[in-house]
Amino acid sequence: MEDLDPFDIALKQLQKAAEIMNLSGEALEQLSSPKEILQVSIPVKMDNGETKVFTGFRVHYNNARGPMKGGIRYYIKENLSEVKALSAWMTWKTALLDLPMGGAKGGIICDTKKLSNGELERLSRGYIDAINKFIGPDIDVPAPDVYTTPQIMAWMMDEYEKISGHSAPGVITGKPLEVGGSLGRGDATAKGGMYVLREGAKDIGLDLSKAKVAVQGFGNAGQFAVKFVTEMFGSKVVAVSDSTGGIYKEDGIDYNKLLEHKKQTGSVQKFPGSKNIKNEEVLESDADILIPSAIEGQLTGENAGKVKAKIVLELANGPSTPEADEIFFKNNVLLLPDFLSNAGGVTVSYFEWVQNITGNYWTEEDVYKKLDAKMTKATHDVLETHKKYNTDPRTAAYIIAVKRVFDAMRLRGLIK
Ligand code: GLU
Repeated sequence: MEDLDPFDIALKQLQKAAEIMNLSGEALEQLSSPKEILQVSIPVKMDNGETKVFTGFRVHYNNARGPMKGGIRYYIKENLSEVKALSAWMTWKTALLDLPMGGAKGGIICDTKKLSNGELERLSRGYIDAINKFIGPDIDVPAPDVYTTPQIMAWMMDEYEKISGHSAPGVITGKPLEVGGSLGRGDATAKGGMYVLREGAKDIGLDLSKAKVAVQGFGNAGQFAVKFVTEMFGSKVVAVSDSTGGIYKEDGIDYNKLLEHKKQTGSVQKFPGSKNIKNEEVLESDADILIPSAIEGQLTGENAGKVKAKIVLELANGPSTPEADEIFFKNNVLLLPDFLSNAGGVTVSYFEWVQNITGNYWTEEDVYKKLDAKMTKATHDVLETHKKYNTDPRTAAYIIAVKRVFDAMRLRGLIK
């Protein structure tokens, strides 16, 4: 049985690259350990007058290249191993995109669907009260992730500013525009992924205007992926899922209609003209491109061999296990790995941070142009390295990112 512990997976991926790079055991050990881990208890006054204690985490993985950076997720199955893995992936992600930042991640064990708006606000402020010394525009800059929103970022920034007694919009990114957010941040993860997909498809000679697409997940990343893949390339989205299940529609799913349907019914299922299918079936559906946009561990040794797509664009963090990676490589499926494909989010987060600390705000056109340049360069780097070492693209991405982090640590005198 495949080991699915997220941090073990992150380490396995790193080891594979370290072998090709001939990294010393000492260096590998240092790159395998988070710098600092904070676990906090957050007492929250619930609407019924009772106080409930929530558990939260913030993991600082590495800051050799600049302030730590990474989102905060609110998730009922959240655990330390997952936050550690995600903080490692953030480190490789910022390095691969050549952003002057490190990697971190945070999380709170909670189910946002069971919290009122007031409870959500008190929980978010409570988390910042608990971790405020651990973050800051020059220390660690959080952002949204699974089930966290721009509104939550606004509360968190406000709480941080109250505690520190001064304006500090650069403490957190993914904020609403009215309080220092960046144009283009809301849909940046999917938009960045589209630039990666465009370059990947070019590389294998796949015509995107004739491609069929399956998208797992209909949150921030998945929703915009459905929209953009049709708008930008004229591809046809045939399968979509959310946490309640999936749908299949041979002649294509209309984004606006599906969004409306989801708003009204709370689910993508029972979308008129479509067939209900299981979440797993979305992954194996008859499509040229598969875009996993939900959570970790979805593509494994058990189902990766059944994937019909020629390209897997990982918009989620960690959707494929190491066994799945090997199967994709063997089957000639082009895997465009998470910390490349979903790096659009943190890249525009970095742009937001730059705008906040300089006080100089950019147009949407500027943001997209700069994002395209960054994503295209990183994709070319990964594809070249993948060919040069005849290794899978994830390992190629690791080779580039790890070298950058290693070099920064070496120049600081931290590693040999
Ligand atoms: N949560 C996103 C990610 O996993 C964005 C992180 C950020 O903007 O700092 O990349």
